[in-house]
Amino acid sequence: MTGSVDVLILGSGFGGSLLSLILAKSGRRVAVIDRESHPRFAIGESSTPLADATLSMLAERYDLPDLKPLTKYGTWKREFPEVMCGAKRGFSYFGHKPQQAFDEAHQLLVAASTSNDSSDTHWLRSDMDHLFFQMAETEGVLQFQNAQYELLSSDSQWQAVSTRDGGEFHVTAPFVVDATGGSGAVLRHLGVANQTELLKTNSAAVFAHFQNVVPVEQMLSNAGLATNRHPFPCDSAAVHHVLDDGWMWQLRFDDDTVSAGFVVDRNRVSLPTLPMEIWERQVQRFPFLRAQFADAKVARPADGLRMSGRLQRLTTQAAGHNWAALPNTAGFIGPLHSTGIAHTLFGVKRLAHILQPDLSTTSRHRFLEDYSARTIDEIRLIDALVEGCYAALPSFPLWCDWCMLYFAAVTSMEQTADGSGEAFLRATDKDFRRVVLDARSQLQLAIEEGRSESACRRFRDWLRITIAPWNHVGLLDDRCEGMYAKTAAPG
Ligand SMILES: Cc1cc2nc3c(=O)[nH]c(=O)nc-3n(C[C@H](O)[C@H](O)[C@H](O)COP(=O)(O)OP(=O)(O)OC[C@H]3O[C@@H](n4cnc5c(N)ncnc54)[C@H](O)[C@@H]3O)c2cc1C
Repeated sequence: MTGSVDVLILGSGFGGSLLSLILAKSGRRVAVIDRESHPRFAIGESSTPLADATLSMLAERYDLPDLKPLTKYGTWKREFPEVMCGAKRGFSYFGHKPQQAFDEAHQLLVAASTSNDSSDTHWLRSDMDHLFFQMAETEGVLQFQNAQYELLSSDSQWQAVSTRDGGEFHVTAPFVVDATGGSGAVLRHLGVANQTELLKTNSAAVFAHFQNVVPVEQMLSNAGLATNRHPFPCDSAAVHHVLDDGWMWQLRFDDDTVSAGFVVDRNRVSLPTLPMEIWERQVQRFPFLRAQFADAKVARPADGLRMSGRLQRLTTQAAGHNWAALPNTAGFIGPLHSTGIAHTLFGVKRLAHILQPDLSTTSRHRFLEDYSARTIDEIRLIDALVEGCYAALPSFPLWCDWCMLYFAAVTSMEQTADGSGEAFLRATDKDFRRVVLDARSQLQLAIEEGRSESACRRFRDWLRITIAPWNHVGLLDDRCEGMYAKTAAPG
C-alpha cells in the first residue's frame, strides 16, 4: 500500500506506539513501522511514580481515558486483568558478599506507594507494548509489522519503502521519529555521531524471565530473619541484590514468573563470552542467590538467556528540523534506578507537544533544538547518578547512600502537583547538578580511604546536609535504619 502521512514513526515499543496514539488522537495522520511483530519479548519493565504520573497526565491532556487505569496497580487489575503486570510498592536492596551467608543488616527498602491499590507496576512488556499497539490501531494509525524496508530522505521528505517481494508498503512523511531503541535506524541513516565515550558507566547485562524463583521474603524467613520492619512486602518491588561487581534485578509478575538479570561492572570484571557462563558465575558465588535459583527455569524468551554488550550509548544529536529520536534511542545508561520508562514517557510528552498541528514551524524548530539538548543532558545526569553506585562497590552502605541522590531528585519531583515537572530528575536545577558533582568528589575520598566504616560515615553525614534542599522525605535519617516509608509518592 502507498500512503502519505504527517509523521512516520519507526519502532513500536511502548514509546513509539504511545506517541502514535497521541498524535492520531490529535488529528495527525501517522504510520508506524516495526521490524518485529507483537506480541514479542522485551525488557525494561519496572515503572515508578514519576512514570505513572506522566502517563496519567498524558491520558488527561490528550483525552485518552483508557490509559488511565494503567497508571496504578489496582485499576490496572480491575480494567485490564488480561494484561500481565506485577505490583511495585518500592525499591528493595539486599547486600551480599561472595560465599557468605546474608547479613540482615544489609537491607534498604524505599517505599514508592502506600498500598497495593495505588502502587506502580512491573509491565510485562510483551503484553503492554501489544496493548498500546492495538490502541493506536483503533485510533487509525497505519501499522506495518515484521517489516523489511529501506529508509530514504531528502530535505523535505522521508520515505520508507518495503523491500519484501511484492512491496508491501511505500510511506512518505515530512517528519520521522526514531523509536527503534538501540538500533537507532534514523540516527544511522543520517550518520549522526555518537559520544558514548563521555559516559562513565560501563556495564553489561544477562537476563530472562524465570519460573520457580524463591521469593526473598521466604528466603529471609527460611533463614529465621524477621521482615516485620519492612515498610512493604519486599518482593512487591524492584528487588536489587547488590554484589561485589554489580547487582541483580528481580521483578515478580502476578503469574509468579520473575524478570531477573545480572548487571556487571565491566570496569571490574572481564566477562566470559557465553550468557550461561556469566549467569552461573554470579549465581554460584552468592549462597542466597544459589538457593533462590536452585530450581529456577527460564520461562521467557523462548531462546533462553539474553546477553547485552556494553549497555551504555549516547548520540550527539537527538533531533533535527525534520526528525527526532525518543530518549531510549538517543542514549541509554542501564536499568538501575528504573529511569527508562519514565524518561521515555517524558520524551513522548515533549514530542507530542512539539508535533501538535497548530504549532508554527519556527516554534517547532526551536523546541526540537531544545528537546535534543535536554534529552542528551538528562542521559548524562542519569549516567552520573548510576555510575557512583558502581564506584561505591563493594560497599553496600556506600552504594545505598549514593542512591539517595537519585531518591532526592525523584521524590522532590513527585511531591509537585502532577509529579511530572518539566525537567527530568532536576536536570535543569544547577544547584542539584553541582551537588551531584561535589558528591562524586566526596565519594572518591571515601573510596580512597578504603571505603572504611568511618569514611562511609563521613560521606553519609556530608550527603545528608548537602541534599537537604531536595530531601522532603527523611532520606538518610539514621532513625529509619534503612526502612523508608515516608518516601511513598502522594496519592
Ligand atoms: C537490560 C535492561 C533492563 C531495563 N530495565 C528497566 C526498568 O526496570 N525500568 C525502566 O524504566 N526501564 C528499563 N529499561 C529501559 C527500557 O527498556 C526502555 O526505556 C524502553 O524499552 C524504551 O521503550 P521504547 O519504546 O522507546 O524502545 P524499545 O522498547 O527499545 O522498542 C524499540 C522497538 O523498535 C523496533 N525496532 C528496532 N529496530 C528497528 C528498525 N530498524 N526499524 C523498525 N523497528 C525497529 C523493535 O522491534 C522494538 O519494537 C531497561 C533496559 C534494558 C536494556
